[in-house]
Amino acid sequence: MKAVVWAGRNRLEVQDVPDPRILNARDAIVRVTSTAICGSDLHLVDGYIPTVKKGDVLGHEFMGEVVEAGPGVRDLRPGDRVVVPFPIACGACFACEDGLYSLCENSNPNAGMAEKLMGHAPAGIFGYSHMLGGFPGGQAEYVRVPFADVGPVKVDDDLTDEQVLFLSDIFPTGFMGAEMCDIKPGQTIAIWGAGPVGQLAAASAFLLGADRVIVIDRYPYRLERARRTGAEILDYGEVNVLDALRDMTGGRGPDACIDAVGMEAHHPTPAMYAYDRTKQAARMETERPYALREAIMACRNGGVVSVIGVYGGFVDKFPMGTVMNRSLTIRTGQCHVQRYTEPLLGRIRAGEIDPSFVISHRMPLSEAPHAFDLFKHKQDECNKVVLTP
Ligand code: NAD
Ligand code: ZN
Ligand code: ZN
Repeated sequence: MKAVVWAGRNRLEVQDVPDPRILNARDAIVRVTSTAICGSDLHLVDGYIPTVKKGDVLGHEFMGEVVEAGPGVRDLRPGDRVVVPFPIACGACFACEDGLYSLCENSNPNAGMAEKLMGHAPAGIFGYSHMLGGFPGGQAEYVRVPFADVGPVKVDDDLTDEQVLFLSDIFPTGFMGAEMCDIKPGQTIAIWGAGPVGQLAAASAFLLGADRVIVIDRYPYRLERARRTGAEILDYGEVNVLDALRDMTGGRGPDACIDAVGMEAHHPTPAMYAYDRTKQAARMETERPYALREAIMACRNGGVVSVIGVYGGFVDKFPMGTVMNRSLTIRTGQCHVQRYTEPLLGRIRAGEIDPSFVISHRMPLSEAPHAFDLFKHKQDECNKVVLTP
């Protein structure tokens, strides 16, 4: 089959790789009908997430048709149409029982690698490094889906792929980012990053009752998409974000701040950017945490900083004194997607939201390397790419 393969730092190729087959009783094989490129893939392609190897198949946002189900998968049949959550979860361990699916204790066969870097291991994730399980991903014609009786959500044919595809990742992620803010009526939520995750976090914050949402980025076309959710926008290339947020909130700061940027943030001041960029390139820190630092500084006293941007290792110059002295709460995590799929499918069905508003490009899987380029370098107003095998 054809699949998108990591061929070295910033080098992707569409290659012929072996077809997946059932290895365990609870596996299913899914023929992919739609898959997408995520901001998280960019961190991998750049080589900032450790333990990616040449030949690894990428992709963790995908849906398709079940073509084969192992004997332990009772509720799926060949022909079923499913959306597959990006974390792989057994559904029955200590973490899964608690709804913490991205921390499943049974789905990461390389837990020992992750323990060395992180202390304890998170769950396996499709197409997301060996430390996170080494599972071939969904930017491919077929995928082996472990624990297929737990993750995949069956979807009736009346909804299009584009309406439901993002239940695999970025809609639940944006929603969880907003949910972690514990939004109360009248509150103002600020969001760093007007990428697809930030846009869906903005839409979710309104669904959860936020009064005002302020989205920060430097790409006008992305800010414009965020504005269409009802959010106010700030271009950090034009204004000082901390001053602007103070002005917009009567001097107090937003009630909660969402980091939807992650480990490769940019900075308007060349010197500050160079500091983190140099340390990251030399692997003296793995992150460029500029948006995270700013979100912490901006948040009102006693507020919540909700971190859904991905971080891989170690952050430098982390303002812990601010967090401690101002009683901030930091909440974060890879999304526990399985917890959200059914309720969010319900919201799509009820017409409360159509997450396909983030899509800017539709391309064949064979053009994935070009699609990655457009998405990474924000060319051609690229916001979110859907690939079809
Ligand atoms: P993206 O790369 O398309 O968007 C990131 C946006 O952040 C860009 O528009 C960029 O211009 C903006 N940005 C950069 N520096 C900034 C700064 N200093 N201030 C404000 N904005 C800044 O990525 P995406 O697909 O929207 O994903 C966003 C983040 O969410 C990534 O880190 C991704 O890895 C992460 N993510 C996390 C989960 C999870 O489960 N927690 C799931 C999906 C994605
Ligand atoms: Zn993702
Ligand atoms: Zn589990």
